[in-house]
Formats: sequence, C-alpha cells, structure tokens
Amino acid sequence: MFDRASVVTPGGVNSPVRAFRAVGGTPRFMVSGTGPYLTDADGREYVDLVCSWGPMILGHSHPEVIAAVQEAVSRGTSFGTPGEGEVALAEEIVARIEPVEQVRLVSSGTEATMSAIRLARGFTGRSKVVKFAGCYHGHVDALLAAAGSGLATFGLPDTPGVTGATARDTVVLPYNDLDAVRAAFAAHPGEIACVITEASPGNMGVVPPADGFNAGLKELCAADGALYISDEVMTGFRTSKAGWYGVDGVSPDLMTFGKVMGGGFPAAAFGGRADVMAHLAPVGPVYQAGTLSGNPVATAAGLAQLRLLNDAAYAKIDAVSAELRSLVGDAFTKEGVAHTVSSASNMFSVFFTDEPVRNYDDAKKQEAFRFTAFFHSMLEQGVYLPPSAFESWFVSTAHDERAVERVAAALPAAARAASEATA
Ligand code: PLP
Repeated sequence: MFDRASVVTPGGVNSPVRAFRAVGGTPRFMVSGTGPYLTDADGREYVDLVCSWGPMILGHSHPEVIAAVQEAVSRGTSFGTPGEGEVALAEEIVARIEPVEQVRLVSSGTEATMSAIRLARGFTGRSKVVKFAGCYHGHVDALLAAAGSGLATFGLPDTPGVTGATARDTVVLPYNDLDAVRAAFAAHPGEIACVITEASPGNMGVVPPADGFNAGLKELCAADGALYISDEVMTGFRTSKAGWYGVDGVSPDLMTFGKVMGGGFPAAAFGGRADVMAHLAPVGPVYQAGTLSGNPVATAAGLAQLRLLNDAAYAKIDAVSAELRSLVGDAFTKEGVAHTVSSASNMFSVFFTDEPVRNYDDAKKQEAFRFTAFFHSMLEQGVYLPPSAFESWFVSTAHDERAVERVAAALPAAARAASEATA
C-alpha cells in the first residue's frame, strides 16, 4: 500500500509526520479503530496512543458519536446554508469557555489560526505577529517561521515557498521567556498586532508554560494594544472541560480550536471578544469564509463528542494518563535511561534527558535516537506511539485496564532497546 501511495502522493502520505521519516520504517496503514485500538491492513491490532493526534478523546467508533453522524448523514451532507447543528456547536463552545463570546466555525486548525491572525491585524491595523520557537499553529505561511532563539529576531522562512516579505512580519521568540517578549514590544512599539502561543505547547514535545507566563503575555499585550491569541487547537476540550483556559484561567482576546471539537471530522473554530469578532465579515470588513464551514456532519460529530465530555470523562482520562506516565517513567528508571516524563494535564511526552526542558532549544538537546529504538520496539509489540520524539502522546476515555496492561507489558523491552540504542 505504501508503494502504491508513494506513486500518486508525495512521500505516500497526506501529512508529513505520518511518513515515519523521523523514526524510519514503513508507516502502518490503518483500516479500522475501536475504543483504544487500531487495526492495520495486515490485521495487527495496536493500542493507540496517538488518537488521531488528539481528536479521538472518546476512543475510536464511540457508539453515540457514530449514531449522531449516521443520523446527520441520513439528512444530507452539506447545504451551504446556515443550520441548527452549527449553532448548537457554537453555543456549546461559548458555554464552556468564558472568554469566547462569539465563535466562527472553520474546517481545520490551520484555517482557525490563519483567520485569527488576519482578524487581529484587521482589528489593530498593525502587521507584526509574535510567535514562539517550537510552537506549531498549522501550516499558515506567516507562522512557519521559527528562527533561532535570539532576542526579538526577525523571522526567517522555515520552508521554501514562504516569502521573506511574509516572514519579516513574524517575530520568533524563545518560549517561556517573558523578557524576550518585553524586548520585542520595546523594539516594535505599536507595530505588533498579536502574540500567538500554544496555550500549553505540545508540538515540541509537551512543554507547559512556566507559572505566570501566559498571564505575563496577556499583560504585555494589553499594555501595548496588541491582541493575545491562545491556540487551543490541541489543548481545547482535552486538558479540561474548558481546555487550558480551564487550567490557568488566563483570558485571551482570541482563541483557536480544532481536533476534539470535530469528533474526528474536519471542524475547527476561532472566537473570543465580541468587539473583536464584530470586525469579521459580514458584520465588519475582515473577510473570512468557507464552503464547508459548519458542515452538518462534522458539527453533529463534534457536538455529540463534546456532550459526552463531562467531569467524569476528564477524571478518567487524567487517571489513565497518570498511570501511563508512571509506568513509562518506572520502565526507563529501571533501565537507567536518562529521561523526563513531561506533562500538562493529561497530555504528556518523554524527553530523553534529565535536564529541565523549558523551550525548544532544551527539547532539541535530548537524545532523540533513543526514541527511535523505543518507538519501534513498542510498535512491534502492538503499541502505536506518535512517530517522533517531539509530539504529545494522547489517551482517551476508552483506554481501559486491558489497554494499559498491554502498554505495561511492552515497556520493559522497549526501555531496554532505548538504553542500548546508539546515536
Ligand atoms: N495549532 C496547534 C496547536 C496544533 O497542534 C495544530 C495541529 O496539530 C494546528 C494548530 C493545526 O491544525 P490542523 O492540522 O487541523 O490544520
């Protein structure tokens, strides 16, 4: 299948990390998913610790989500008109997350961050965007700049195809460094439209914000008249009922969502202060649109999933995450492997270093070659991990004792493989 795919699709995949380039080997083609398990085209079953990179927080094929999708599909798949499902999903988001007074639905996290930045620029009349090295906000041109960690460096494009002119308006700073943010505002007074940050980063491995970091960002933005945008595409509706906002209580001007809120379908959103959102078309002048925005099948799936995510569901996910973190840490300790199990609520990842990891430069210092050996051993033993040392692991309400036991059984050999690995 991979050979067939590689003929008609670059690298055989529709999103690069799926190709296993960071760990080597051939990606598994999955044909079905049930609860915490995935089954590949050769009929092998895996405990899934990726959960489609976050969305499948109730596990695969949850009967109530599937029923909601089937019911919606039976009425038609897209109308290109307003519909009740999208209103209900927007109401659910607004009810859960206090700083979100109004929300606009889109189809991907990338679209959400791209639109939020356009809105911030339109609202403030300013051009520059501050982002942090190691934070991923989708493949938005202006946000694919991740220059080194110098103070207030001008962004350089990270990929061919993003022009210097686009990247020049992006200021890339080291994560968890408020002094760098202060210096950027001092260097560009009245020019910064917004600071965008992952609410709690999961794209350089899991690196939570230091105490007071997000609150500091909000304060610095407010003092300069810039907007504070919290990207909750990954953390939203996962790290608590109200996402990371529910954990740290810092009120952003705009927020972005995706993954969990789509129930496994392409649905995402951006929202926030009503006075800012009022600048969006058709009320205001900032244009934004989408043929499939608020799609009735996607919104039915998302709404069904969110309605099942009550306090008990989060307690269960948090408990499974804590159990797995402790099993993973113990396995590495037993084999004498230097490691840090880094977590933010129920998101977690392993850094192969015992030095503190506070930003992307720290994360890159880990012995990532150990992850490759660990990953392949786990895969051989039927545990599907993200194929990169710089990604969060995800669990769901469906990860029961049997699934956890299967992970526990695989860990000793995989930790040994990590300890024996050489660069
Ligand atoms: N923002 C964050 C924090 C993400 O983790 C991602 C995707 O992983 C995105 C934005 C982009 O979302 P999408 O892949 O749906 O475009």
